[in-house]
Amino acid sequence: MKILVINAGSSSMKYQLIDMTDESVIAKGNCERIGAGGHFKHSTGDGRVYETDVVMNNHTEAFVQIKNALLSEEYGVIKNLDEVSAVGHRIVQGGALFSKSVIVTEEVIKGIESLIPLAPLHNAAHVQGIRACLEVFGKDVPEVVVFDTAFHSTMPPKAFIYPVPYEYYEKYAVRRYGFHGTSHRYVSHRCAELMGKDLKDIKMITCHLGNGSSITAIKDGKVIDTSMGLTPLDGIMMGTRTGSLDPSVVTFIAEKEHISPSDMDTLLNKKSGFLGISGVSSDDRDVCAAADAGNERAKLAIEILEYDILKYIGSYTAVLGGVDAIVFTAGIGENQSSHRENVCHALEFMGVKIDDELNRQAVRGAEGKISTPDSKVEVFVIPTNEELVIARDTMALVENNK
Ligand code: ADP
Repeated sequence: MKILVINAGSSSMKYQLIDMTDESVIAKGNCERIGAGGHFKHSTGDGRVYETDVVMNNHTEAFVQIKNALLSEEYGVIKNLDEVSAVGHRIVQGGALFSKSVIVTEEVIKGIESLIPLAPLHNAAHVQGIRACLEVFGKDVPEVVVFDTAFHSTMPPKAFIYPVPYEYYEKYAVRRYGFHGTSHRYVSHRCAELMGKDLKDIKMITCHLGNGSSITAIKDGKVIDTSMGLTPLDGIMMGTRTGSLDPSVVTFIAEKEHISPSDMDTLLNKKSGFLGISGVSSDDRDVCAAADAGNERAKLAIEILEYDILKYIGSYTAVLGGVDAIVFTAGIGENQSSHRENVCHALEFMGVKIDDELNRQAVRGAEGKISTPDSKVEVFVIPTNEELVIARDTMALVENNK
């Protein structure tokens, strides 16, 4: 069975075609600048690459590019479209409506649409992606939706209710939802496998550290808290996002600088974090290089990031009543051994001990344990694979539905 995994954004659409017999990626690519010109890139598992500027006015036209590439004689990977058994879509916001993956129906699409106010850019684009897929692939190819929020739906109210007047929860569903759930789910299950235990028996903290970052506390196999909130802005400092801050900072700056709510949204989401503090870049590699070259603000940005990670691990250890395993994943978590080293050394007081050499080697897709055999807490680096989770969910739902 071959499953097409789609991640539709407002101006881009990433895809992977996964062969579920061995879970290998047989083709992947990205439609960029949809609605504003267009650039298409496609590559196959056996190393063929096709890249071109091509006008894509909307998501339907982007899907046509994907279809043509998959079927192409030169750089295609299938002979007939019916080789694609199903399509799985990544959906950012499932709200309180969706606590697990589901097969797409008109009612499901309406549900995702009803959540657009909670994730205006993302959910609107996802709906465009689902409808475009239906147009190009036809209604005989089942579609499944997998939600970033779903894994976090087990949080108790004390973790998800914000201490603003309760009416805003009732009126607008303002609460913590959490994101990156598919990634936290993948690495937590993989970590349990590596430990040879049931996830239910492990108190775990998973750190997804990328451009966007979130940290999650898992107990009895369920998420009990996570650092992102109503939107992906909450939690630890990120590439261009603030993470948590005193809300008065927002109103104070808005008044002083006469900034509108939408410009403030841009400031908090796009101009802050690593970029805002360092003034160098949103990318951890650039900031680390600048820090090495003596840039004080770049050094400060790194100190803040590591301090934030440390604070979350500390507070979640308290919330969990101890911790058995800590997992690092995503671009920074999988590659930047210096952050892992500094954070883990600061956790030595609670029995965390890492092997510095193993830690330095755990980069560029390597998976494994970086803690020493006598460490009280096992520490892992596990490359995330959200697309594979989406493909597995899609296959399971489609097979169950037969
Ligand atoms: P996104 O949240 O956009 O999916 P990623 O998970 O790809 O982001 O993470 C991007 C971050 O990971 C960037 O800050 C980048 O510096 C860092 N990163 C990615 N690859 C490497 C690498 N090989 N070495 C060091 N840092 C890396």
